[in-house]
Amino acid sequence: MKYKPLYPLLTATVYLTLSASAWSYPFESFLKPLYRPSDQSPLTNLPNLAMPSSSADNADSTVSAGVMLSDVMGRVQNIAIFSGLTRDIDTVDARLDDATKNVTVLAPDNGVMKSLKRKPWEDPNDYNTFGKNAYDGGEGEDRAHRNLRRFVEAHIVPQSPWKEHSKIKTLAGKEIWYEVKDGKKTIQPGDVEVVSVAEKLLFLGTTSNTITMNFDADNLLICITCGTQFDIQYEEAPETCRICDDPRQYVPAGGQQWTRFADLRGKYKNNFTQDKVDERIWSITTDPKCGIGERAILLQTPSGNVLWDLITYLDEETVEFINSKGGLSAIVISHPHFYTTHIEWARTFSCPVYLSAEDSQWLNRADPYNHRKLISVPTETIVEGVTAIKTGGHFEGSLVLHWDKKLFIADSLYTVPSAYYHKDRQPGTTSYSFMWSIPNMIPLPPNKIHDIWKALKPFKFEATYGGFPGQDVHREDLKEQVLESMKIQVRGEGHRESGILEESW
Ligand SMILES: [Zn+2]
Ligand SMILES: [Zn+2]
Repeated sequence: MKYKPLYPLLTATVYLTLSASAWSYPFESFLKPLYRPSDQSPLTNLPNLAMPSSSADNADSTVSAGVMLSDVMGRVQNIAIFSGLTRDIDTVDARLDDATKNVTVLAPDNGVMKSLKRKPWEDPNDYNTFGKNAYDGGEGEDRAHRNLRRFVEAHIVPQSPWKEHSKIKTLAGKEIWYEVKDGKKTIQPGDVEVVSVAEKLLFLGTTSNTITMNFDADNLLICITCGTQFDIQYEEAPETCRICDDPRQYVPAGGQQWTRFADLRGKYKNNFTQDKVDERIWSITTDPKCGIGERAILLQTPSGNVLWDLITYLDEETVEFINSKGGLSAIVISHPHFYTTHIEWARTFSCPVYLSAEDSQWLNRADPYNHRKLISVPTETIVEGVTAIKTGGHFEGSLVLHWDKKLFIADSLYTVPSAYYHKDRQPGTTSYSFMWSIPNMIPLPPNKIHDIWKALKPFKFEATYGGFPGQDVHREDLKEQVLESMKIQVRGEGHRESGILEESW
């Protein structure tokens, strides 16, 4: 199978740049004297979407991705005038910053804004009532601001995605819809042509209301320490990585460092190691170490291939290897330390990527093609025989994966050195530890450990595969060892009464 470029340009719907027929009034210095009265003839209609014009030379805007929508819009030069207005309207500004709400912004381009016959804060009725000084003084400014609000709200649709012919009210209360005819998209009523469609605005969690538009993923920011990719251009790197800032990770002694795919390519290589016990299982690791040095694990199941957890680095050789094994039916990621570049993996293999809904606040990229499936139930069947089990603990939504008496445990259960050799073990010898922070060695409390046990108890397993190469343990009584390790840790933390101490397997 021929390898296709990993990162095609993205298109979808987030804001639409509108255009209309040419009105010729100049509209200079729009932003500064915002409430300046105008001597232009007022129109009779309210400001709305039916803005005339024609120029189509403003399509294909290129902006940075992954920051607050208002920031992104601010960088799209051909809608700069309208973007400036949205910042002045608190209801709109707040909505664009509200991660729980999807929004489609109908952004008139600068040409349209400049050719408006009257300014967005002007209303002919005001001139009729108050004369030509209608916008002077405190009251005049209030009046202008109300009109401006109405204008901006008329361009905000509180929904995304937004289906063709689906009638929806703008924030200003006007009912609109869109149609596609002869390949042209128009907003109705008013026949307003959409000259460019940017990107679907996808609000993912509480902090990741990101927008992705016409960018090249090669240049997206990747944290060197944790391997997480962000919807932020390399040149616009923030000071720190929020995954590494979290107490469950760390920033190395040298401080925060960033990279991008463009710099990784050619310097790394992925290795594919077949499991010694079960040849249907492959560990995929990156050499030299990339990110936290974890592994992804390919499971060749009769119902389709599943990739458990992820590594950052992806190249043509890796795509060819996985495709030679039958491609991927699904990717499942245990927790945010393995989110890495999952949007690129999912797009490359055209497969869903399963993650816990509880941890969606840690997502750092938009998902323009809806590859993500957020698991909000205790267990989820990925393909027949393969079950994602929510254990919580390390992260609220931490997952393990169960397949054919095997448990893929990532960081939910952390395999310790004593796990590998079992002969004549002394009492008190653990096989696993249960950690809130692994690098900083902060253990989980008894109730969280008990919750992990309750999640695992219904499942049979005789092998565990940890998040890092070599963390494989095979033993018939492994489930008993998990419980034993839990009890050892809880007692070691000084607890003599805990539900987990009462459990038997
Ligand atoms: Zn990081
Ligand atoms: Zn972790």
